[in-house]
Amino acid sequence: MSLLSRNLDLFDPIDAVVSEQSSREGQLEAVARFVRECVLCPLCRNRRNAVPGEGDAEAAVMVVGEGPGENEDAQGRPFVGRAGELLDKILEAAEFPRSTIFITNIVKCRAADMVEGRMQNRAPMAPDVAACRPYLVRQVEIIQPKVILCLGSPAGKGVIDPGFSITEQRGKWFEGPFGSRIIATFHPAFILRRGGAGSGARDLKKLVWEDMKLIKNYLLEAGS
Ligand code: SF4
Repeated sequence: MSLLSRNLDLFDPIDAVVSEQSSREGQLEAVARFVRECVLCPLCRNRRNAVPGEGDAEAAVMVVGEGPGENEDAQGRPFVGRAGELLDKILEAAEFPRSTIFITNIVKCRAADMVEGRMQNRAPMAPDVAACRPYLVRQVEIIQPKVILCLGSPAGKGVIDPGFSITEQRGKWFEGPFGSRIIATFHPAFILRRGGAGSGARDLKKLVWEDMKLIKNYLLEAGS
């Protein structure tokens, strides 16, 4: 069982507000309002904008990344930098373009430290991921996607299992909530760090494409 399950009997103020909304879009916006005002972990201190996520409220595929970077923090939207451009190309090649999916992150605020006078991105810490998980859990509950695609090791650790290994466990299916299946592949930013068009990046892109084909075939079999 993934880390996205919870005890639905526990009362929560977010649930109370979400349940007042009749549409999935309204419910997602209710969650987003909580996210934009959230101060539950230290990542709220340096953010310019929280990034709740965006996309199709009826999406069959939900993409979950690590967290907002500099561009995302500036715009309040997920995957809008160079990694986002590469992700768009990957998703379009797999025939589930961004307009048909919902895209978010395991933490909704940028994780960054000041290094030599400049804010540098870093992986979010486990307590920050745990503090932010209830928002992701609710987004999954509202959308109830068929497939949850984790991008990169931190997303795999935050969604599948704290001991998740991207090199050993990418491209494998895991059980998710509401009958969904979870799979992980490499983060586009990792491919870009490997040199974009270099041979290392080519090998990574090939593996990512294999993972996309698994999702595509599963959705075809599931009739989506
Ligand atoms: S990262 Fe999540 S838990 Fe932390 S302040 Fe932002 S919205 Fe709240």
